[in-house]
Amino acid sequence: MQTIDRLEMLRKSVAALRKDGGSVALVPTMGALHEGHLTLVRKAREAADHVVASIFVNPTQFGANEDLDAYPRQMAEDSAMLEAEGVNILWAPAESEVYPQGFATSISVAGVSADFCGAARPGHFDGVATIVCKLFHQVLPDMAFFGEKDFQQLAVIRAMARDLDLTRPHVDAIHGVPTVREADGLAMSSRNRYLSPEHRAAAATLPRAMQETVEAIERGAASAPTLASLEAALLQAGFDSVDYAALADARNLTRIESLADTPARLLVAARIGGTRLIDNMAVE
Ligand code: AMP
Repeated sequence: MQTIDRLEMLRKSVAALRKDGGSVALVPTMGALHEGHLTLVRKAREAADHVVASIFVNPTQFGANEDLDAYPRQMAEDSAMLEAEGVNILWAPAESEVYPQGFATSISVAGVSADFCGAARPGHFDGVATIVCKLFHQVLPDMAFFGEKDFQQLAVIRAMARDLDLTRPHVDAIHGVPTVREADGLAMSSRNRYLSPEHRAAAATLPRAMQETVEAIERGAASAPTLASLEAALLQAGFDSVDYAALADARNLTRIESLADTPARLLVAARIGGTRLIDNMAVE
């Protein structure tokens, strides 16, 4: 595996990989890797001849009072994990390489980014769309892999690729990978390591209560009182607050009151011990 931190070198190395005519997949990450990230890498390896993984803790997607400085950084461990998975190139640029002096452009995807995490974290999805668009142009992959764990992020990236007619990758080559979970159901996240043992144990209430909510709504329960019970269960279990617990149309992320013919998604963000956890599940 080649580790690269200069754009000029990245372009040369990706071009060299492409010499054999093989395809290239990109897996963007912010590092502090876990099995969720590695699952994306494995899917990328199955689908493409070559894999580029990126590690960049993108400052523009963090709000002023968020955890940018505290965000875990472990480049040596991450690099060893990616090498063991057969990644060809690790793209790990410094901030000055990505946002040089005078950088002035931002991509804003209206609609899908307005509600939920977009409302709770103003500017977050502009930062995400901009960095992902830059990564796409830096690497020019045939396909890219993202986790459904960040369901709204995946919708924002697909909308951007569609609206801007991106070709490398094309919107149809943006793959979503189902959420990888711990044994007790908690969605894997780099932020789980912030949790104390007590909060970590209580956090398992989130997927459990969500699963019960999904089943109740699928059985025909009215969504408003069912979502209110979910919020109450989280607060009862030790969560400090619930940013949102909502039922949405899975395609455009608008809130819905009841199930219709289109796929639906239960989306939750809640805070425990100063850590913000998000999760989502299909409702059919
Ligand atoms: P992050 O490093 O948190 O920005 O995540 C990088 C990529 O890994 C994103 O596409 C995430 O959606 C994905 N990801 C993070 N956690 C998981 C998980 N538990 N299961 C599947 N994908 C995940």
